[in-house]
Amino acid sequence: MKSITSIYKEGIGPSSSHSMGPRKAAELFRRTLTAAADKITVELYGSLAATGKGHLTDKAVSEALPGHAVTFVWKPLEYLPQHSNAMIFTAYEGGKPVQSWTVYSVGGGDITDGSPPANRGADSVYETDRIAPILSECSRRNQPLLAYILSGEGDGFLDRMQTIWTAMKSAVGRGLEPKAACLPGPLKLNRRANAMFHSAGRNIGTVRDMTLISAYALAVAEENADGGQIVTAPTCGSCGVLPGILYFLYDNCHRTDADICKALAVAGLFGVSIATCASISGAEVGCQGEIGTACAMASAAAAYLLGASNEQIEYAAEMGLEHFLGLTCDPVKGYVQIPCIERNAFAAMRALESASYAVSTDGRHVVSFDDVVRVMNETGRDLQRQYRETSLGGLAAIFADKLENA
Ligand code: SF4
Repeated sequence: MKSITSIYKEGIGPSSSHSMGPRKAAELFRRTLTAAADKITVELYGSLAATGKGHLTDKAVSEALPGHAVTFVWKPLEYLPQHSNAMIFTAYEGGKPVQSWTVYSVGGGDITDGSPPANRGADSVYETDRIAPILSECSRRNQPLLAYILSGEGDGFLDRMQTIWTAMKSAVGRGLEPKAACLPGPLKLNRRANAMFHSAGRNIGTVRDMTLISAYALAVAEENADGGQIVTAPTCGSCGVLPGILYFLYDNCHRTDADICKALAVAGLFGVSIATCASISGAEVGCQGEIGTACAMASAAAAYLLGASNEQIEYAAEMGLEHFLGLTCDPVKGYVQIPCIERNAFAAMRALESASYAVSTDGRHVVSFDDVVRVMNETGRDLQRQYRETSLGGLAAIFADKLENA
């Protein structure tokens, strides 16, 4: 399994698979072009074509190919076998195609063209992809999860977590500022983070706390929807969940920057395990792979910060994912706004519930984290295509009609 640093990518929203990954692919393709290349076509397949306009795929790709005439060909009903998010870049010189590249955006901003890495396994940090063997090893060494992670990741790792945390705090801060009322796009969705943050002060106890968690999560999710700078955790669409709960515990419960960096490490272990053993791509497994994974990571982080044992942390992460099983991906008009933004707030609140539930038990439970990851993967692949980031089913289908008739 790869380093925990691989799950946290600083970048520009609104979508890791539909804008961040395609942007990266376009930048790599640009490096291969000769000066004579005068035209580029980009064929977008499957989910990338179905929701690419709302996810700003064409904008991200065009920005990465400055000075070139780029033509997009949208093929929402055609799928290439390797992945639902496929692109074919073709460069022309004097009207003739001279080179072509097929590439897939596989979730969380990662891309692959299917060719085996020259040095397979070189980027592997952990000997296993699953959490159960890691817990067994910790038990054998009589070691907390964090110590196990630090011994695997090596020097500079916590500095990298500090960079990620600084970027997350910055996104929360920007998102809480008063902004233009509406997010871009046809939904005319109001930004809510600022008003919600101020309304928290008019409440007390649990209502105040839950309102604050929501406000922090919304702040980041709204920045993402506005094409702002965020950190994938594990994706852009779900990027508000983890900072939402972490900022709450930092700003309201006296956790330090150093504490939060360690919590990010623990959260990342669960995120990378899901990305490796299943998928974090809404186009592959639905929103359970994005919001569900984010909630699992946030639940593990919150449990760690509440002083949980290894078993309690794993239990919190398991609950964070289990109770989002079956969640479909149905963004209205293809924009990462409805239902995505609210889902960030609800998953952040759920993370605190999972963590507080887990730490009030002895950590023993029946369904393991690895079990629920396997079920999530199988459930996701059983979901019909209209519920996997195509905007052809669910809320997207209902509100497409309502918006047309409004
Ligand atoms: S519904 Fe979930 S998976 Fe789909 S775009 Fe929104 S956040 Fe991502």
